Amino acid sequence: MIGVTILGSTGSIGVSTLDVISQHSDKYKVFALTANKGVETMVEQCIRWRPAYAVMADADSAEQLRARLKSAAADVEVLDGEAGLQHVASHNDCAYVMAAIVGAAGLLPTLAAAKAGKRVLLANKESLVLSGKLFMDAVRESGAELLPIDSEHNAIFQCMPGNFAAGLTETGVERILLTASGGPFRTKSLSELRQVTPDQACAHPNWVMGRKISVDSATMMNKGLELIEACWLFNTTVDRIQVVLHPQSVIHSLVQYIDGSVLAQLGNPDMRTPIAHGLAWPQRIESGVASLDLFALARLDFEAPELDRFPCLRLAAEAMQRGGTATAILNAANEVAVAEFLAGNVLFTDIAKIVESALNNINVAEATSLESVLNADSQTRQYALTAVQELAA
Ligand code: NAD
Ligand code: MG
Repeated sequence: MIGVTILGSTGSIGVSTLDVISQHSDKYKVFALTANKGVETMVEQCIRWRPAYAVMADADSAEQLRARLKSAAADVEVLDGEAGLQHVASHNDCAYVMAAIVGAAGLLPTLAAAKAGKRVLLANKESLVLSGKLFMDAVRESGAELLPIDSEHNAIFQCMPGNFAAGLTETGVERILLTASGGPFRTKSLSELRQVTPDQACAHPNWVMGRKISVDSATMMNKGLELIEACWLFNTTVDRIQVVLHPQSVIHSLVQYIDGSVLAQLGNPDMRTPIAHGLAWPQRIESGVASLDLFALARLDFEAPELDRFPCLRLAAEAMQRGGTATAILNAANEVAVAEFLAGNVLFTDIAKIVESALNNINVAEATSLESVLNADSQTRQYALTAVQELAA
């Protein structure tokens, strides 16, 4: 039995992971579950899964969880805070860690799993955007196995040659084609984009996801973060990755080889497929996802992305090319701007403005230490909050 820690078990990816594990309880057992504040869902998950540990990042929520589990006579040890998250991410009794916390909050526990040499199932793309070099170094040094769960990266991983770490050119790959649905506003004009509401932004046409990544999909910052994620995962640069709009989200990405071959991975848009792939790799297990019915697909469309309506994609590409802490600045400004948009404090189109302003005004440093990355993150958050107040005034 393989012990699995799920960081962010109450979220969209966390719940899908538990669904896949429930279909294979002969192979995987839940070692630890973690969340921020969702006590109700965590109580239910603990009673159903009986993990050795449950961790709440928020200390008051951990206190409530302890009391609730005591009255339910559930023998689960409850920890809290960053130390608790890192403890269960690096514990000897867990071999696999699903990294599905949203945002920069996922960085330290995911890094702890990488340093401890775990199989890391990486959904938390923000940790690579923040500190790609440090993260990839930790993976190499510890011998951790890094399996991409983001559907595009999981597709690319499936289509890449086995020795891709040697580099694209060295392994006969011409470029990576990263597909994007274009989100709910793909066809909206710039003036219409000013008026959109948080609920409209969160209504993704093809995927059901947490609210932060849903807004990122609507601004196309998600594709920008994924571009950066792909550079780190596949040891390449922005100029070797072409973003392709593909509104149906059936092709999850493609790899183009120098001999003219293009390999693609297709499937119904359901995260249980990449999750099952990451759990079982190099084997295959059932995921609960219906197989693709090619005859029912009316058509597959492809378009080039428009960078003037979706500036976040351009900003992400520029930040990656600039290097150092620029991507940490991009990520932190985006997290603040998205939270403020969801809270109704700024317009949808302000998100890109806040990110661009942060990138223009905050000094980019080398990203060679965790300290420099975390500094850039906190400095940018303060800057972005001030920018929000100025926009609101
Ligand atoms: P979500 O909002 O549904 O869930 C987030 C989880 O993280 C919850 O369990 C929450 O309690 C926990 N969390 C939030 N803030 C925290 C904090 N400060 N400290 C500790 N835990 C915290 O998000 P999601 O949609 O499941 O996305 C999770 C990650 O996976 C994100 O990085 C996202 O980009 C990535 N991802 C998601 C999807 C998807 O389909 N949902 C697809 C690809 C990648
Ligand atoms: Mg994705």
